[in-house]
Amino acid sequence: MIDERLQAIFDEIIRMNPGEPEFHQATREVVESLAPVVVKHPEYLESKVIQRIAEPERQIIFRVPWTDDQGNVHINRGFRVEFNSALGPYKGGLRFHPSVNLGIIKFLGFEQIFKNALTGMPIGGGKGGSDFDPKGRSDGEIMRFCQSFMTELYRHLGEYTDVPAGDIGVGGREIGFMFGQYKRITNRYESGVLTGKGVAWGGSLVRTEATGYGAVFFAEQMLKARGQTLDGKRCVVSGSGNVAIYAIEKLQQLGATVIACSDSNGVIHDDKGIDLDLLKQVKEAERARLTVYAERRSSARHIVQGNIWSIPCDLAFPCATQNELLKNDALALVKNGCIAVSEGANMPSAAEAVKVFLEAGVSYGLGKAANAGGVATSALEMQQNASRDFWTFEHAEERLKGIMIGIHDLCLETADEFGSPGNYVVGANIAGFEKVARAMLAFGVI
Ligand code: NAP
Repeated sequence: MIDERLQAIFDEIIRMNPGEPEFHQATREVVESLAPVVVKHPEYLESKVIQRIAEPERQIIFRVPWTDDQGNVHINRGFRVEFNSALGPYKGGLRFHPSVNLGIIKFLGFEQIFKNALTGMPIGGGKGGSDFDPKGRSDGEIMRFCQSFMTELYRHLGEYTDVPAGDIGVGGREIGFMFGQYKRITNRYESGVLTGKGVAWGGSLVRTEATGYGAVFFAEQMLKARGQTLDGKRCVVSGSGNVAIYAIEKLQQLGATVIACSDSNGVIHDDKGIDLDLLKQVKEAERARLTVYAERRSSARHIVQGNIWSIPCDLAFPCATQNELLKNDALALVKNGCIAVSEGANMPSAAEAVKVFLEAGVSYGLGKAANAGGVATSALEMQQNASRDFWTFEHAEERLKGIMIGIHDLCLETADEFGSPGNYVVGANIAGFEKVARAMLAFGVI
């Protein structure tokens, strides 16, 4: 049950942000977790710091006109929500997907505040994107869209102000086009203004791999806390994009077998284990669908619109998108013996699914903790840019691993301290909130 005062705060958030169910879902989870905090720290209520955190500092919505290869004009909508800069410049990815709207960007930006705080790096929270659909578009079309998007966005960015990165539909190619346009408009080689850059022009080794690797390092720590290891575990990983591919890579390196992955058309079930080289060829090089993977691999079965969560496994890694794992999926995973869930995606599990995991004693690593490796490595990229340095793969990976272990331990210690041992949801939300709230109180009412 949610505390009466917190319920009133949440009701006000709903009233102020109508028609944004994902944002309501994300804020509800955090507000609910704060019950034991406000008992210990009534000053958070008196200073209205929860309401302040729930209100973005700035929201930018803009027109993005562009021309396709046939000369037709298209108009998309661009967003950047600069949510909270208590701990550093706004930091968070850009998503290009037709489902993008203000509510989606706000939920992602809100999650980002606490995730970034958990990393211990000096970064605030923000998120952006567009309802542009990159699927099936030529390189030229993608370039013209990115240039138009940046022609408006650039005035809001800066290495001390707002530093975007990639997310769904935005990878190295798109960051390249946007960085090029930023540099051209401003006449400044400001490396620290975007992260996820190519390693030849200011990027960091391990940034591409970081979110997926980080989610696996987090799972490794959750298993360690249960006296187990990844070795020999059978895993399912939803999605087949950046996060999924590198989660699969690290799982295989650490001795686990990944038997399934997916995209928005269907599921690949491959009992022999996913062929990672083939998956990279199909997804990264050819930008093709998973049906092509199945055509080239005899042990793989492609299930059109299949449900990946019904495949028996020891560990589940949701790495596609929000609310992709519902209550019945969680019940199926528990019934089939799944012992841990580590989220590479943002808010992939619906609130009822999370409840199922927690009640069943599944080790549940929520996205804002388990997928923080991506943004943490972005902050390491900013660090290298600021010092004109370039680290080896081994050094950057070591730093990433240390950060993930730190987040894991902080979540567990905080959960313990606030009376919910083993509950990473409570631990992550309270630990992230307290870092931000303390800074905000120090700054006065701003
Ligand atoms: P990506 O490379 O664009 O891949 C996204 C994958 O998810 C694709 O396989 C895509 O399938 C699938 N997908 C996307 N929307 C879907 C939908 N509505 N229904 C079903 N499948 C869908 O993106 P990504 O960078 O891997 O991001 C995946 C998740 O991780 C997102 O939740 C993102 O916010 C989160 N995340 C990413 C990072 C990062 O560093 N990239 C960091 C933290 C969190 P199709 O190709 O068929 O669309």
